[in-house]
Amino acid sequence: MNKKVRTRFAPSPTGYLHIGGLRTALYAYLYAKKHNGDFLLRIEDTDQARLVEDSLQNIIDTLNWAGLEFDEGPGKEGPHGPYIQSERLGLYQTAVQGLIEQGHAYRCFCTKERLDQMREEQMLMKKAPMYDRHCRYLTPVEIQEKLKSKASFVVRQAIPLNRQLKFDDKIRGKVTFDTNTLDDHVLLKTDGFPTYHLAVVVDDHDMQITDVIRGEEWLPSTPKHLLLYEAFNWEPTEFAHLPLLLNKDRSKLSKRQNDVSTQSYIDKGYLKEALINFIALLGWNTSDNQEIYSFEELIDKFSLERVQKSGAIFDLDKLNWFNWQWKRNLYWNKLRAKAKELDSTCQIQETNKGPVFNLTKNSPKFTNFRGGLLLTEVEKNLDQKYKTDQEFLNKALITLEEKILKEPENINELIKFYFAKNLDYNKTLFLNEKMGVNAEVAKQAIAICIKDLNESDFESEKALFDKFIQVIQKLNLKNGQVLWPVRIALTNEDFSPGVFEVANVLGYTKTIDRLKWALSELA
Ligand code: GLU
Repeated sequence: MNKKVRTRFAPSPTGYLHIGGLRTALYAYLYAKKHNGDFLLRIEDTDQARLVEDSLQNIIDTLNWAGLEFDEGPGKEGPHGPYIQSERLGLYQTAVQGLIEQGHAYRCFCTKERLDQMREEQMLMKKAPMYDRHCRYLTPVEIQEKLKSKASFVVRQAIPLNRQLKFDDKIRGKVTFDTNTLDDHVLLKTDGFPTYHLAVVVDDHDMQITDVIRGEEWLPSTPKHLLLYEAFNWEPTEFAHLPLLLNKDRSKLSKRQNDVSTQSYIDKGYLKEALINFIALLGWNTSDNQEIYSFEELIDKFSLERVQKSGAIFDLDKLNWFNWQWKRNLYWNKLRAKAKELDSTCQIQETNKGPVFNLTKNSPKFTNFRGGLLLTEVEKNLDQKYKTDQEFLNKALITLEEKILKEPENINELIKFYFAKNLDYNKTLFLNEKMGVNAEVAKQAIAICIKDLNESDFESEKALFDKFIQVIQKLNLKNGQVLWPVRIALTNEDFSPGVFEVANVLGYTKTIDRLKWALSELA
């Protein structure tokens, strides 16, 4: 029978959750959920000197914010708790006792002075600093004497010598280490706390973890862990080491070039859907290069086999792009839901500008709901003075939808032309050399529109479009020669929604008033 997949995220509470940590947690979560397994949170706080007070809470809050709900962990006790290492000290001490008895570990009584001197000599000889294994070869009698004299000691792992250690990493493939390059590192410190290496192996075994998914920086530790599994006679977990996160210049992701705490992205208002989507693609993709993934899709499609070995570039522009895509997606979802709520039989046509609704009930309430919904999104940014005519406002908002969604803080600037009494024209805007618009053409185009446009043309954008085409043909002018000056007359804006859209919102009277005003100003 296959074992139930169990993964864990095992951060040290030494600061707010790092963005790279969020990716590790996400991959471990996705892998577990894809295989109907469990995802655990374990806090590795054995280095008590490095603890930062509110980081445990920040880690938990951030995982919750991101939707990475753990099945077992601090505050969510399960059969393998407690899930904070400082509360599990007895377990490590018992484990280490067994290792000593079987010769896989030994007590080291070396003083700090001796170790410092040894290191200094190694540095002088340009050798990598390594413990010289002095205490590994103490006789039982010597050990008893030291113990009797109450000499303090650490416990070190007795690394087997002259072995090539091979293992299969799910991302990096076959990896080989020469055990002679490994230090007899400390497993248990003088204060009775384990080091990371001991605690991680004891806990992964005790918590029945099947797959260890962690950053590449832990790869050199893996042979030590495998040797511990062997010494304990436990079956090792599978391993997958994730590629580094890099700045754009391919240096290791750093505070200098990017914010590295997840909290800073939350504080800046990034959507969780966008951040998760972006993070998921830092080192993983599907063969079809799909970019937008919902959370459910990520669970469905994630695989460790498609995680790359090489470093993944953290590109803020890309994150901003995802944020915009998701902002729009979520807004469109709300629109779809609202349309169905107003008219459950409504047909939805999907276009690249979003869903278009064929609402059968043709009342203003129904045709304007899109603007109304946008307003609820950005209400707090909009000046009170624009809120007098709700229907007019809703129609105006629809024409500016994408711009307002992108820059909600600029809404008043964007919408103000709709509400102006007499526009204070920048007259040079009327002239457009490329389109062949000089002052005469501008005046001629505006004058003919005043004369030819009728109230009935304002029934819809389509009716306005048809009428303008007629006028243009009659004058024997190019489209731009009429549409450009008329648009400036209606908006006084270099960039604005198109003539038909704006005229449709303004309606007959306001449009004609503006055209007349423009003509008098140009005279
Ligand atoms: N405590 C380690 C860290 O802070 C965990 C490494 C591992 O997952 O084994 O990243």
